This record gives sequence, structure tokens and C-alpha cells, in this order.
Amino acid sequence: MRPARALIDLEALRHNYRLAREVSGAKALAVVKADAYGHGAVHCAEALQGEADGFAVACIEEALQLREAGIQRPILLLEGFFEASELELIDRHDLWCVVHSLWQLEAIEQARLARPLTVWLKLDSGMHRVGLHPEDYQAAYRRLEASGKVARIVLMSHFARADELDCPRSEEQLAAFRLASRGLNAEVSLRNSPAVLGWPKIPSDWVRPGIMLYGATPFEQAHPLANRLQPVMTLESKIICVRELPAGEPVGYGARFVSERTTRVGVVAMGYADGYPRHAPTGTPVAIDGQASRIIGRVSMDMLTVDLTDLPQAGLGSRVELWGKQVLASDVAACAGTIPYQIFCNLRRVPLRYV
Ligand SMILES: *Cc1c(COP(=O)(O)O)cnc(C)c1O
Repeated sequence: MRPARALIDLEALRHNYRLAREVSGAKALAVVKADAYGHGAVHCAEALQGEADGFAVACIEEALQLREAGIQRPILLLEGFFEASELELIDRHDLWCVVHSLWQLEAIEQARLARPLTVWLKLDSGMHRVGLHPEDYQAAYRRLEASGKVARIVLMSHFARADELDCPRSEEQLAAFRLASRGLNAEVSLRNSPAVLGWPKIPSDWVRPGIMLYGATPFEQAHPLANRLQPVMTLESKIICVRELPAGEPVGYGARFVSERTTRVGVVAMGYADGYPRHAPTGTPVAIDGQASRIIGRVSMDMLTVDLTDLPQAGLGSRVELWGKQVLASDVAACAGTIPYQIFCNLRRVPLRYV
């Protein structure tokens, strides 16, 4: 059997969830969209079911998958519904729903529902992706109240630059949110992972941690709270072939690496078809039997190559950690010019094993 696999540490997931609640002092929706950032939404939701205040997903298909697996806690649809016809399922499965556009508000006003909805009313406070215009916000709130279709409204917005700790934009967005929501007596939800970890003064009755649950930092620079996160996923495989090359020999497609000295090359059963980033260059860290090394040459579809020259005890069958508790996914992502969110979501073909 091919040795490539991803181990998922559900105790670490629970630790990170508790950390989000502890540092925010708020209720927390565990964001498990996109199959829990590649970690398996059903398993992750089951692991948190006993303690999570609720879950958040991107769409009704993801929510129904959780309901079918027996997840009973509240589930928020972060983009609400894409068509009014989804309201029937939202009603039947008791889902919470973001309203980010006026057409959604109108659809709720016209819907026939068995029970009143919980709506998270989203303001565009400056990210300019989705969310109601500040000038429409109060009127939308009043219309939802008057519709008779809504039991509870949570005021919500989303930050564009909370991962940039020196950037004033999050404070500006907060000021825009305060102005638009002035006088509305409702719970508030503003903070995603970087805002939970990096912006303690921004209020939130509900936080929405995603990436931090999986133990990866949302920041480019070191941060003391991010150091308390525990990586959840360990992507690992084994050395399947070893060869020794004299100086001056190329390795792999495009000869992107040429040995400068006698080099022991290990071939690892892991490639970009597994979601390992093809853009990871020579020098990207790996750990081999617990010792630091680096990849050399281009990542190919099913294999990649590593430097064993300074690890004489490593060889055929040695365990390779591509990312996990020793090699941080955020460091691999940075080498590949991307973010840990993307390398987790790109994972495929490798079996997930829950521990
Ligand atoms: C994905 C998402 C989150 C989680 O973001 P992280 O940076 O992963 O914590 C929070 N809120 C909304 C609206 C989202 O779409």
C-alpha cells in the first residue's frame, strides 16, 4: 500500500477550539467549510459536537452533509442561500442563514416557513466582497424584524486585513460597523481567526475561527498566541528509493537541482496529485525520521525528492513528514508562495486517518 497519508489529530482540534473560546471570551462557530479545510468535515464536527456552540459552512450542500451525519448543533450558512428555493431545506433542517444581499431579504419576506429563522445580517464594512451597503443596513434589520419570519438576528461583518497586525484597516472596518449598526440591540459577530488571535479589543459575541482550529497560523510573522496552536494534520509518507549521485548531476524534471557535491537523494511517495504544492522550491523543509531536511528538484505528480546527504541513518522506508507538528504547514506554504488555507484545501488522494 502506498505510504502517503494524512493523520488528523482530533484532540489537537479540540485544543484549538478551546483556545479560540478562551482568548475571545465569546461563543465560537467552528468553521468547517470546504470539508473542514481538507480535514474531513464530518469527523471534525463529530469531534467538536459535544462542546462547539455551532458550525459554519459555505453552502447548504455542506450543511446537509453534517445533518445527515447526525450533527445536531446549529449550522450557519456563511453565504446564505444561492436561490430562494433553498429556504425550504434551511427551514426543514433548522439551519442558520447569512443575509448579505437585498434579494435574500426579499426572498425571506416572501417565504412560507414552518418556524422563524435565525439570520446573520452581514454588513459590508469595507472588504467590498459581499454584505449589505451601510446605508441599507438599518432598514434591512427593521424589515427582517417586521417580516414575522425571523426569530433572531446576529449582526455580522468580515475583515479583509486582520492578518496584518500593523494595518489600521480592521479598526476602520470596526468604526464603519459601529456606525451602520448604531442603536441595534443584537449580538455581534466580527472575528475570524486572525482577528481572534490578533485583535483582542474588537468586540464579538460570536467568533468564527477557521484556520486556527486546524492549528495553522494566519500570520506571516511570529505571534505568541499562534504559538499555542497545535497542528491537526500531519501529512506523511516514506522514502521509496535512494540513490547516490556524484557532483554535477541533475535531479528530476527540468533539472531544477544539480548536485554540488556527492549527494544522497531520497524519493518520497508524495506529489502534486496529492495536493503537495508543485511550486515548493528546492529548500522547502521536510522532516525525515524526525530530522530536518529539504526537498530538492521539482515536485512531480506522484513523487518528490529530498536530500539525505547529511542524514546517513535515513534510507529506504524512512518516515517523511511533509507538514505537521515538526514542519509547519504555514512554512511550507510560504516557501511555495501560498497560504496554509490553500495547501490544506488542495489535499486529495491521500487517505485521512483519525487519531
Ligand atoms: C471562512 C470564513 C471564516 C473563517 O476564516 P479563518 O480566517 O479561516 O478563521 C470566518 N468568517 C467567514 C465569513 C468566512 O467566510
